[in-house]
Amino acid sequence: MLADQDSLIDGTKLAAQVTAEVAKTVAELKARGVTPGLTVVLVGDDPASAVYVGSKERTCIELGMNGETIRKPATISQDELLAIVDRLNADAAVHGILVQMPLPKHIDPDTVVRRIRPDKDVDGFHPVNVGKLSIGEKDGFAPCTPAGVLYMLQASGVKTAGANCVVIGRSNIVGKPMASLMVQPGVDSTVTVCHSRTRDLADHTRRADILIAAVGKAQMVTADMVKPGAVVIDVGMNRIPDATKKSGTRLVGDVAFDEVRQVASLITPVPGGVGKMTIAMLMSNTVRAAAQQTQ
Ligand code: NAP
Repeated sequence: MLADQDSLIDGTKLAAQVTAEVAKTVAELKARGVTPGLTVVLVGDDPASAVYVGSKERTCIELGMNGETIRKPATISQDELLAIVDRLNADAAVHGILVQMPLPKHIDPDTVVRRIRPDKDVDGFHPVNVGKLSIGEKDGFAPCTPAGVLYMLQASGVKTAGANCVVIGRSNIVGKPMASLMVQPGVDSTVTVCHSRTRDLADHTRRADILIAAVGKAQMVTADMVKPGAVVIDVGMNRIPDATKKSGTRLVGDVAFDEVRQVASLITPVPGGVGKMTIAMLMSNTVRAAAQQTQ
């Protein structure tokens, strides 16, 4: 029905829009002697984490920010890692700190996240920032992926006020903060959060004006689960076998894109959708952290 280019929300374009805004703020901060700095700590040699951290570092440098990566072997002790966080907390040139997950099993991720100074926690996972998001305090940091989704909706002119928004997934990284953002005053959606124990998932999703899938199950949202004209945001990143690709796999979302785009009014592709926004929002959080710390 609506399967043309106009129905696509272009993550690459919107991410470029965010980074252009960030670049302006970087220039303003530099003019008053502040170079925003993000330090990422990468423990171990998980290949996906290495790629992700590499692009964070590159984006920082492209934007004229300081982007340092501290690489440590998987054998690092929890105390050694906490000592690095303490050092970064005390370093005035570091405005944002991010410890890349997942961490090796002998390190408790909650202990590490709680050690990061909340005003430098640009990932938005410290309980103080989770609380600030929940009560609507604007100086906190929202997690980058859901913040990117909200930016996409607003930049695409989607009417969120009064809309029925259904979020599939309740993780602390995506689902729950996504729900917090959509229900906050000013966004004003009516939010339903679904998860693996939800009874009759399709009954909920079919009522969504805005459907956000953050499940981690390849192409599970099918056209019959979507209300005609709904806006569909696909956070999922799943690898499925594909013999036509050199790697033998390809990246797909949680939404069966080809069929759902026939019923949706707007939809994000995978790749080229939400994934592009996450690093852009991380940069946005970092420049705001730098501005707030140097007021
Ligand atoms: P997660 O921690 O595994 O959470 C998945 C959620 O989906 C859980 O709440 C789970 O319910 C729910 N779920 C699982 N099966 C379900 C089903 N059949 N019906 C309804 N709900 C179901 O995953 P996550 O970290 O939130 O990530 C979700 C997806 O987003 C993944 O594909 C991930 O790769 C992707 N992601 C993308 C980005 C990006 O930048 N684009 C960033 C982060 C994550 P329970 O709580 O009951 O188990």
